[in-house]
Amino acid sequence: MTFNPAPADLLTCRLCPRLATYREEVASTKRRAYANESYWGKPVPGFGDVQARILLLGLAPGAHGSNRTGRMFTGDASGNFLFPALHRAGFASQAHATSHDDGMVLTGMFITAAARCVPPGNKPTRDEVATCRTWLEYDLTNLLNLKLVLALGSIAHDSYLEYLKAQSHKIIKKHYAFGHGNLHQFEGLQLAPLPLLDAYHVSFQNTNTGKLTEAMFDDVLALAKTLAGLT
Ligand code: SF4
Repeated sequence: MTFNPAPADLLTCRLCPRLATYREEVASTKRRAYANESYWGKPVPGFGDVQARILLLGLAPGAHGSNRTGRMFTGDASGNFLFPALHRAGFASQAHATSHDDGMVLTGMFITAAARCVPPGNKPTRDEVATCRTWLEYDLTNLLNLKLVLALGSIAHDSYLEYLKAQSHKIIKKHYAFGHGNLHQFEGLQLAPLPLLDAYHVSFQNTNTGKLTEAMFDDVLALAKTLAGLT
């Protein structure tokens, strides 16, 4: 079976009524700078290399970024930080990400998110992230060459741990604290879950304040490449 990152039941998903309403409201009202554009306004599918070794797990679409363009991290400040870094590390074919048809090709990496619909205030509820874990499971199950999960931010980190718990792994979450550069190997657990590497989210709030610098993120990507056997 060929992996389809955008199955019809994802693109029409309304399991989270609050988010389904909000994504469409944002797409209808728009930001003035994009008033002439047609917003995506649907759940944003994962994007990248279906032979990927690294699953980059973000938080959720940006209101006027991927909720507008229909591609993860595309068209906003987060993407303006992320894609140049992925390009420097050799994962992305180009540094600029402006639209779903800008020619971007990812190699070795697939990008997904803990929630596929834009949340008000960039904050999905715990229940919404839990509901959307169905789609994270879909990616984790169908991307057969994965070696590593790279979580951007604590919500993505937690969502992967909850996914492992739902797979009957004995996870004591306090043993796996989130921190930039933290690596969790899950040694001793049955079925050898994919290791988890943490990074601060590439949000404008983090990059603009210097909490996350280019050098810090480049270092995490270099470690991810090594862990995934890509160097
Ligand atoms: Fe469906 Fe996920 Fe969107 Fe909720 S956040 S409506 S589960 S796609």
